[in-house]
Amino acid sequence: MEGELHHPSSDFAKELEKVPGGEAIKKCVQCGICTATCMVARESDKYRPRQLIQKILLGEREEVLKSLQPWLCMSCMMCEERCQEGVSPSDIFHAVRRIAAKEGHVPSAYKQTVETVLKDGWLLEDSYSDFIEDDRDDLGLEMNLKWNKKFVEHVKKKYFPEVEE
Ligand code: SF4
Ligand code: SF4
Repeated sequence: MEGELHHPSSDFAKELEKVPGGEAIKKCVQCGICTATCMVARESDKYRPRQLIQKILLGEREEVLKSLQPWLCMSCMMCEERCQEGVSPSDIFHAVRRIAAKEGHVPSAYKQTVETVLKDGWLLEDSYSDFIEDDRDDLGLEMNLKWNKKFVEHVKKKYFPEVEE
């Protein structure tokens, strides 16, 4: 029905409005400027920010939460710069990710990334030791980066208390 799309009232949109980042979801008028601006959309026909917002507005909760799409946004904020309605798709997708994560729908690649950082303190520890240590040595900087492990322990304690030492 005309008008309905611009003033949606899906339960999912209402739910998202209450999550930090999702407040402006109902301001979206589906103009598509975000998709036209988005570099990820330019490279992949699997990612369309306007379409993803439309699915939220129409209440396709399960499909959106189980989808990889909200995780493909690289938060460059180009779309936010151009959106005439004051909507930040990136913020909206962050809010979607929060709900998805709470319900156990984190894509495996993201889980592996977090697990690796929490285990090693680095995403690519080998690359670090091979290249950066030498550079730090050349510059006369501390090579033994124990502070990194300490930092990880702080992060674990604060944000992932369930993760074992
Ligand atoms: S540019 Fe803004 S109003 Fe237009 S579709 Fe994207 S989020 Fe919605
Ligand atoms: S913030 Fe996300 S949706 Fe917006 S242009 Fe950048 S990658 Fe695309």
